[in-house]
Formats: sequence, structure tokens, C-alpha cells
Amino acid sequence: MQDYDLTLQHVLWRIEKLFRRKEVVTKREQGVHRISYGDLVPRINQLAGALKRLGVKPGDRVATLAWNNWRHLELYYAIPCMGAVLHTLNLRLFPKDLEFVIKDADDTILFVDRTLVPILNQLAGKLPSVKQIVLMTDGEPAPENQLGKMLDYEALLKAESPEFAWPVLEERNAAAMCYTSGTTGNPKGVVYSHRSQFIHTMGVLQVDNLALSERDVVFPIVPMFHANSWGLPYACGMVGSKVIFPDRFMGDAKSVVELARDEEATILAGVPTIWTTTAAYLKETGIRLPKVHTVICGGSAIPRALMVAMDEVGLRMLHAWGMTETSPLGSTARVRSWVPPEEELEKRLTQGLVVPGVEIRIADPASGVELPWDGVAFGEIQVRGSWIASGYYNGYDPGKLTDDGWFRTGDVAKIDPDGHILIVDRTKDVIKSGGEWISSVDLENAIMGHPKVLEAAVIGLPHPKWDERPVAFVVARPEFKGKVSEDEIKDFLKDKVAKWWLPDEVRFIDEVPKTSVGKFDKKVLRGNAAAIATTAEAPAKG
Ligand code: ADP
Repeated sequence: MQDYDLTLQHVLWRIEKLFRRKEVVTKREQGVHRISYGDLVPRINQLAGALKRLGVKPGDRVATLAWNNWRHLELYYAIPCMGAVLHTLNLRLFPKDLEFVIKDADDTILFVDRTLVPILNQLAGKLPSVKQIVLMTDGEPAPENQLGKMLDYEALLKAESPEFAWPVLEERNAAAMCYTSGTTGNPKGVVYSHRSQFIHTMGVLQVDNLALSERDVVFPIVPMFHANSWGLPYACGMVGSKVIFPDRFMGDAKSVVELARDEEATILAGVPTIWTTTAAYLKETGIRLPKVHTVICGGSAIPRALMVAMDEVGLRMLHAWGMTETSPLGSTARVRSWVPPEEELEKRLTQGLVVPGVEIRIADPASGVELPWDGVAFGEIQVRGSWIASGYYNGYDPGKLTDDGWFRTGDVAKIDPDGHILIVDRTKDVIKSGGEWISSVDLENAIMGHPKVLEAAVIGLPHPKWDERPVAFVVARPEFKGKVSEDEIKDFLKDKVAKWWLPDEVRFIDEVPKTSVGKFDKKVLRGNAAAIATTAEAPAKG
């Protein structure tokens, strides 16, 4: 067989040769922006020319601080295909973390969307590696800033030829990098190679996985700065699906629903928090999205109540699991042929089966001993495969690989005899009470099944006798604010969880703090909870 290098240039070749007429649609303040792949390709070539003229060399890191839009997609192709490394910056990182990742990656050129200039401006004067900032705008000037002279993206492109002689790349060259969001310690860089991205793309496309086809209209609401938008941009390019980008209008259910409806989306993708508000909006307005056949959902476990609510408004969720370090696709919960209809929901709520190309095992985190797939024993998920990280950029956290080369994910799960993965918790979130483990995820899901509850997050707080006890933080649905009590929640849980799992306390809050990628931020809850407990015990003032 030929020794053919697997690179992203192949995806670029396909959009140019086969899918010129297919569209990339981006939401704008008013209406949408449309461009065909046929018109995108010359722009990608011009962009590569501009990068070369700016002095970008093979292996240089080029950063993007951008929303999901067509220019970001141009960068997704031009940077890796000309031999440089696409470094997508998480725009929701704290400024100190953003500064850290730009320095750590040693980014040389940075592309920024006009609306994100204020974020970058917080780092003015602190980015010594960045030789040039390029502004992406539709013509409006950049907001006030101290970033120095920025080049204009469109002007840069205009000055270049619409042809570009792509270099010959090796498949093991770095193509892209993404930092974990740093829930503990500094963010850590994960470097994706051309080969890993190529094989991941093929994995994503399989029918029992995300199953994108040319006929699909794909709407990735998961940010392009987060694990390459779950690999969807390249997967769409490989098979020629039309893509819809939300730009900065990601968090608002109305605009998500309207865009999906108007552009006839068939596949939506995003984290559970997006679907909680979307399901409520659809229910309230009566609007339906009959063309959508799949809502890919990952990033955190799908609460049962959410999957049921989505089923009720005609949206079928496909549960997927993964992490930045797994490119990210690790498992998908497609229902297998022998599962009777009454058991389908149960199976869809698991994290599903490990995808072809990846191997999985669970192991006791302390002893490392492998545990059986009996649906009872739970331990840390370990994975290996060609799109699984072997370590972090600059050698951080070297202990992530086991002695025999499996990646330690930090997720705790059971696996049943049929191979369904059921994530119990993250190792750092599991609650250890009296020597036994309580799954914060299971408790949250049970509480979120209460009709008056919108969201619930559970953490373990220190306890003198039991080491830790669960405390639930609950957000009531707007119409039930102030009308749901702690006892009501505890009563509701009585026949759903073991007695010793019942939270010691239920505290009502207005909103669960979220991480930069929309997951419950338990670190913040823990920090605040300690403060609340201390205040509560302090003698009353005066
Ligand atoms: P971060 O680590 O910065 O939150 P990632 O997206 O890499 O960003 O997070 C990966 C983690 O998210 C996984 O290790 C797991 O804990 C959690 N996760 C992802 N998908 C699921 C899912 N379907 N069910 C439960 N947890 C999930």
C-alpha cells in the first residue's frame, strides 16, 4: 500500500473539488453572512499567502481569538495546511490564564474578532511572543485599545494571490493545539497532529458515531476554541455538509432556534446547559424543529429530565463523551439493535460505547488494578488510541500516562457487560462519605428530575465525622422561585437514592456558576460554600 500521509490538506482538497456549492452560514447582528466553499477556498489560499508573508514558518503557533464564524473556518484550514499550528484561544479564560497560554504556546501571530478586542486588550503589553495582531472585522473600526497597530484581515487577503502552493506535510506534524480550561492549576496544552485529526475526523463520521453526511446541515454551538468544536468543522468539510455558525449569538435560545429553523439544520451540537434553555424556549413558544434529527450533546452528563424534555419537543439527543485530551470523541450512546424500546432511554442516558479506534478500561485509581465490566465496579477511565493525547505541551503533568501507556482521564465510571460506560463522577468531584463514594452526578440528575428545579449542582463539604457530606445547590425554575423548599427536594429524593446519599443541606441559588465552556463550576461553589459556612457559624454582628 502507498505510504500516504494523513493530513488536513486532504479535507481542503475535498471541499475544493467536490463541495464548492455547499454553504457556510454565519449569524450576524442583522441577518446572516453566506459564503460557499467554492468562494472560501481562494480566501484560504490568500490567507496562507498572507501568513507566509508575515513570516510564519512550519511549526509556528498562530493563535485565534474568535467566535464560530467563516473567518475562523478559513484559519482552521490555512494555518495547519501551510504547516503552522492553529492555537484556538478560549475567549472565556481569565485574563491571567489567557496570558499564560499565549506565552506557553509562544504564539507568533494572533487573529482576533473585532468584538473580542476588549478581551485581548486586557493583555496589552504582556504578550512578548506575539509579533503581529490581525483584526477580523466587517469594516467597523476596532474598539479603543492599547494593542498597537493591528493589520486588517480583509486587506491582508486582498493583497495575496487566490492560488497557494501548499507544502508537502508529514502526518505527524502538529496541526492544532488546544488548552484544557484549567479547572485545577494552569491550563495545559494538548497538541493534535495532522494524522490524529484526520483519523478523528473519520471516526466522527462513522454511522454509529456522529454520522454526518453531505445532506446534513450541521450547527455546531460548541465553540471552535473548545476541542476544535468537537471535530465538526473538519468532519463537515470531509463530507461536504452545510455548516451554520452562531458567531457570538451562542447563549441565547431564541437566536439558536431561529437560526436552526431558518437554515434547516439537521444536526445540532452543544453542551447540556444550552439545551436546558432551548427545551424551555421550544415548550413555551410551541416552535418545533422538525428537520433536526440529532442533537449531539456532551461535555457533561445529560440529566434524565433534560433528555425527556427534549424528546417531548421532538429533539432526539445523542449523548457523547470525551475531553480535550481525546480530540475529543471517546464514546457515543447509539442504541444497539437488540435493545427493546422500553430500555432505550436508559441506554441513551449512558455515555455509550467507546468509539472504533479507541480502547477503554477502568482501573482502581489507587492500585491501578483493572476492574471488571460488571456494571457495579467503578474506577478511573483509561483510554488509548491514535487520537488520544500522549502528554501535554511543554511536558506538564507527566503522570497522566500509566506505565503501560494508557491515558488517565480523571473520570470515574462503571462499564456494564455490554460495554455501556456510565460516568459516576470526576475523580475530584466524587464525594467520599464514611469511606463510601457518593456520585455527585447521580444526585444532581435525581434533583434535576424535580419539576420545580431548573439546575442542581452537588458538592462534598468537609464533615467532622464522615469526612465529606453532600450539599446541593439548587436553582428553581423561574415560575417556582421562592416556592420550593429544602424538605420538598429531600422528600423527592427519598425513593430515588440511598438514604445516606441524601444531601445534608439544600441551598437555593440564582444560578449555578459555569466554567468557560458552560459546565458547572464546582470549584467556585466550593470556594463560596466555605465562605457561607464560616459566615453562618460566626456570631451575629452587633
Ligand atoms: P475541561 O476539562 O476543561 O472541562 P473538557 O471538555 O476537556 O474540558 O472536559 C472533559 C471532561 O468533561 C471529561 O473528562 C468529563 O469529566 C466531562 N464530560 C465530557 N462529556 C461528558 C459526558 N457525556 N458525561 C459526563 N461527563 C462528561
